[in-house]
Amino acid sequence: MPFSSLGLSSALCAAANSAGFQAPTPVQEQAIPAVLEGRDLLVRAQTGSGKTAAYALPLLQLVVPAEQVRSAPRRVQALVLVPTRELAVQVGDVLKDLAQGLTPAPKISVVFGGVSINPQMMGLRGGTDIVVATPGRLLDLIDHNAVHLDQVCTLVLDEADRLLEQGFSEELGRIVGMLGATRQRLFFSATFAPPVSALAQQLLRDPMHVEVADTTDTLPDIAQSAIAVDTRARTQLLRHLIKQYGWSRTLVFVATKYAAEIVSDKLRKAGLNAEPLHGQLSQGKRSQVLEDFKASRIAVVVATDLAARGIDVVELPVVVNYDLPRSADDYTHRIGRTGRAGQAGLAVSFVTADTEAHWRLIEKRQGLALELEAVEGFEPTEVAADAAERFVDQSGNGGVKGKRPSKKDKLRAAAAQPVQPL
Ligand code: AMP
Repeated sequence: MPFSSLGLSSALCAAANSAGFQAPTPVQEQAIPAVLEGRDLLVRAQTGSGKTAAYALPLLQLVVPAEQVRSAPRRVQALVLVPTRELAVQVGDVLKDLAQGLTPAPKISVVFGGVSINPQMMGLRGGTDIVVATPGRLLDLIDHNAVHLDQVCTLVLDEADRLLEQGFSEELGRIVGMLGATRQRLFFSATFAPPVSALAQQLLRDPMHVEVADTTDTLPDIAQSAIAVDTRARTQLLRHLIKQYGWSRTLVFVATKYAAEIVSDKLRKAGLNAEPLHGQLSQGKRSQVLEDFKASRIAVVVATDLAARGIDVVELPVVVNYDLPRSADDYTHRIGRTGRAGQAGLAVSFVTADTEAHWRLIEKRQGLALELEAVEGFEPTEVAADAAERFVDQSGNGGVKGKRPSKKDKLRAAAAQPVQPL
């Protein structure tokens, strides 16, 4: 099916083609005509499936003719909310790229925190067609009287489930309350946990549900593996894997900003071109790291979940979960940084004795059944803290070092415990 059959103008079809899109992806096929019809949408489609263009293309068509709205000072026609600054920049770039050949050219403003607010205020003064924003900075701009949302016709939530979660929900509530009679709302994500989905339904009017079925054609092509390893051996294992398999670029997820610093530092000392990426870095540094990684000037980025959502690094071959994600949904988003736009990818998760139970839960929710692999030279020796407490070494050697208790061992240990008198 060509882009022209979706109701897009010939200029936008040409823009899609010049962006390298020969035919619409399944989510674009379903979403674009519905957005053009003015419907509310709840869209769940896999990571890397072309969701950004699924709203960007019709949005550009909807806003361009309404010049008189833009000329109203500080007014906006369409608002795209995203959870991270990095995603704001990326979505802004996609919109600007697709808008290049359009006349009249739509005005697109991208606003996010961590940088000076003044240029953003100036940019919004004369009104704008599309604003891409993180919620916190948008509210700051509203408080500075730099922008009014009463004429927004279309609201897009990209990574909608994240924006509807606690932590963002208060900010989102304030923004939605200011939208006036917004006609159209479009919510996109790869995951919608049931409570979030229920909340989303309340904010949408008679929404069309677009659910791209998980088939071999639409599912991202990501090989997944889990490696059992001792907690303290993970950095060495990571170095070993990068070297052994010659991974050109690797995105490594860790649980904390501290870990991002420590692990990247160790990798650098070992001669790898590695950088941390987390929320405590300056915005300039965050943008630079991502730009350098995308341009292959950095080989390894060690990131917190800041980089888990939406970030599109073309031809990223590997994602490593050095620390496991908190939830199965976070796992989906993290590994979805690879295997994008039809490319193949690899996701490797490090599983330690203490995180094995959590890994089994993620695995179950993901419908996976992976064998825990061991890499030669990195075979695990640790036991889970709680198992170690319960386990009594029957040999009398006073420890369990070098051996993980089997189910049988655990039963034996339990039987050896003195029976408490009632
Ligand atoms: P997204 O899910 O929006 O982050 O897009 C994932 C990747 O797919 C990006 O690199 C896009 O440039 C690419 N992409 C989006 N739409 C198409 C299309 N119709 N054909 C080929 N690639 C696409």
